[in-house]
Amino acid sequence: MLRSHTCGELSAEHLGEEVRLCGWVQRNRDLGGMTFVDLRDRYGITQLAFNMEARPELCAAARKLGREFVIEVQGTVTERESKNPNLPTGDIEIRVLQLKVLNASETPPFTIESHSDGGEELRMKYRYLDLRRPPLQQHMELRHKTALAVRNFLSGEGFLEIETPFLIKSTPEGARDFVVPSSMHPGQAYALPQSPQTFKQLLMVGGYDRYFQIVRCFRDEDLRADRQPEFTQIDCEMAFVEREDILKTFEALTRHIFKAVRGIELPEFKRLAYDEAMQRFGSDKPDLRFGMELNNLSQQAKNGKFTIFESAQSIQAIVVPAAAEWTRKQIDAWTDWVKRPQIGASGMVWLKCQADGSFKSSVDKFYAEEELASMAQTAGAGPGDLMLFLSGDTARVQKQLGQLRLAIAESLGLRNPDEFCPLWVLDFPMLEFDEEAGRWFAMHHPFTSPYTDDLQKVHSDPGAIRANAYDLVLNGNEIAGGSIRIHDREIQAKVFDLLGFTQQEAEQQFGFLLNAFRYGAPPHGGIAFGFDRLCALLGGSETIRDFIAFPKNNAGRDLMIDAPSPLAPQQWNELGLKTDA
Ligand code: ASP
Repeated sequence: MLRSHTCGELSAEHLGEEVRLCGWVQRNRDLGGMTFVDLRDRYGITQLAFNMEARPELCAAARKLGREFVIEVQGTVTERESKNPNLPTGDIEIRVLQLKVLNASETPPFTIESHSDGGEELRMKYRYLDLRRPPLQQHMELRHKTALAVRNFLSGEGFLEIETPFLIKSTPEGARDFVVPSSMHPGQAYALPQSPQTFKQLLMVGGYDRYFQIVRCFRDEDLRADRQPEFTQIDCEMAFVEREDILKTFEALTRHIFKAVRGIELPEFKRLAYDEAMQRFGSDKPDLRFGMELNNLSQQAKNGKFTIFESAQSIQAIVVPAAAEWTRKQIDAWTDWVKRPQIGASGMVWLKCQADGSFKSSVDKFYAEEELASMAQTAGAGPGDLMLFLSGDTARVQKQLGQLRLAIAESLGLRNPDEFCPLWVLDFPMLEFDEEAGRWFAMHHPFTSPYTDDLQKVHSDPGAIRANAYDLVLNGNEIAGGSIRIHDREIQAKVFDLLGFTQQEAEQQFGFLLNAFRYGAPPHGGIAFGFDRLCALLGGSETIRDFIAFPKNNAGRDLMIDAPSPLAPQQWNELGLKTDA
């Protein structure tokens, strides 16, 4: 080895020892008599000291070291004159006796320190330099520890990690597939898995009753902020289980991860049915770190006078605590916020519960004081609180108020990244109606088991069929989702039919699964965690890109290798896709 220690491990304990270190030059300070160099590797920074008087040649060589030069030094650990309490190695420095330049470096395009001056695009182009920065290195370490915690825990519970293929046939999870044409089979293509869903179910048929895999998945989606076309899941499946077994097992996994990686003991995992989550929080992934729940005032707010409310299907309000003092300008800003096309409300009504017990609102002329008081009472608003109302179609109002609730909480600093509130959301609707396509789609995926009692509603009210599906939510983020699966061939065929597949289409796309179900499929269910998001949350960040070594940008491009990129005409020809350039 070229080094005896890393740049993060030497302290006063090592005083007097002769050591060898390797690393990158972060900074070089020439103070005349002395030259100091900060030497960095992924473990930390150690100060190197070169004395002009004692070793003039060595000191002259040190002065020539540029940023990011790779060097090897040998020297003695000595006590620093001016100690740096912010650095683990801040008590010592190395009096250098030998210096060897292992490689020179051009001046990097941005500073490689905890806080860089480089813009996002530039840093993505030179990702290998960005990866040298301490925050990124901590994130990669956290990701490694998380993966290790997952493997340790699940292995201890009898799960086997089994790989499934990447070159497969399309698995419908609601997004577009990335396809891979093959020159051996002109006109045909593989698809990259959106998840190993069908394979993990086939593993259950194959008798591997506890499976997991930390696996890459691919979705050719229109990229919304902070989504990656390829991302990693902790994919899991169990046989001979019911929902409760899955919830318990993966609650324990989640607890183990937080404890192992962050030393955090998670609080109770709450549970909410989907309908209740929508009613109380206007979201199927509510952030429970704060209150401000939705209040349905549809009946109370209708007194025959205020036409906008009269014609609305639903009138709902949230209570912003201690905000009665907000100025007109502040309230107007939030009104503009809800009117933006992304939210889509047409207006907002406010009601201030003033400190003296009186009320003031934007609809004073339509309501008597007692009516306002009674609405405030229903919503639990007290003196000093502010109520904000939205009205319209129920589902839309819930969603809009849910978004407003989050944005206001964010602005009030109520979303503390060091607090964690886990929650299971249960009993999702099985189907979702797509207005554009004019048909029902599976909300989770077509292999999710419906509650059998609900199946009677197939014709009368398909939207009311509930699925045995569950999501694990943490601080407003969906970190995992899964379901109990259909293991009965007849029910699976019925569900395909409900989803608009002809028998032939179902056979063509999923014949392998339906066939497998002829040969003794055990009852089974599973779940998949979004691994990148989980790492980001563990790291106290919302940006998954920072926790992926080589991510794509918001447009799905890898700026470093410049992909995707055109193919040479010959390559198109070989694939039988295009005969000329
Ligand atoms: N395959 C599902 C997904 O990727 C997860 C599951 O049902 O296990 O969302």
